[in-house]
Amino acid sequence: MTTNPRLLMEEFGLHPKKSLGQNFLHDPNALEKIVATAELMPEETVVEIGPGTGALTAQLAQVARHVVAIEVDERLRPVLEAELADYANVYLVFEDALKADILQLVGTRGYVVVANLPYYITSALLRHVLEVHRRPRRVVVTVQRELAERVIAKPGDMSLLAVSVQYYGKPRIVTRLKPAAFWPRPDVESAVLSIETYDKSPLDVPDDATFFRVVRAGFSLKRKQLKNALASGLGITTAQAAAIIEAADIDPRRRAETLSMEEWGALTRQVASAGI
Ligand code: SAM
Repeated sequence: MTTNPRLLMEEFGLHPKKSLGQNFLHDPNALEKIVATAELMPEETVVEIGPGTGALTAQLAQVARHVVAIEVDERLRPVLEAELADYANVYLVFEDALKADILQLVGTRGYVVVANLPYYITSALLRHVLEVHRRPRRVVVTVQRELAERVIAKPGDMSLLAVSVQYYGKPRIVTRLKPAAFWPRPDVESAVLSIETYDKSPLDVPDDATFFRVVRAGFSLKRKQLKNALASGLGITTAQAAAIIEAADIDPRRRAETLSMEEWGALTRQVASAGI
């Protein structure tokens, strides 16, 4: 058995699909680091998204109680079945992870999500795995380095993505990976991002829906003052928006990217108490 993705793909007469972001990780240190970062507890399930040729899946299967691996590319079925034949605790699912009902797949067990994803689905996938009523304890994703940096941003560089992820958990960059860690080599550097989720968000807001309505409104107009963006996004006048923002102790001329998580929380409370 070989775990070299290039040889494996050759053996099965397959070529990696660029459109599915198929850059397979083969650096043993990187694979080990990802498994260690997941810090699996004995009873937990791992949901792996995009197992590819199964290099990470096999390592996860050695330490996890159950592994549910969701791969969209049916062509990889024979590769994964052969590579993972020795692991009775791996359950392979062939479907688009964005459409998968992850809670149904994991049942009542605690779980962790591990993924090495194409750039274009990362934001959507983070939302798909975080916006559920029973969240994974941790999410470990390998993404483009630039995207990982955007997720861990601080006030001054915040974005809808950063606020959304930081609402649900604490993100940190565990390690950076050079293109040579993958086959075929991608054009950009990658990073392993770990998001430790909160049982309950530390922000005191009435509910998730109001929080996201306010944040989306705040980021709805690029490079515009918060009062204009909020007015446009919430369908209220600029004067009303300015009054709400001031009531939250925030200067209405600031821009959305400068607000801290606590300030988004304060703004949400004011919007809710104004009945908007
Ligand atoms: N985990 C493997 C590794 O580390 O070598 C493969 C990583 S490769 C960057 C991304 C994998 O995600 C590919 O196998 C690709 O087919 C799969 N993929 C892409 N889009 C997907 C989706 N929407 N749902 C599930 N898997 C997807």
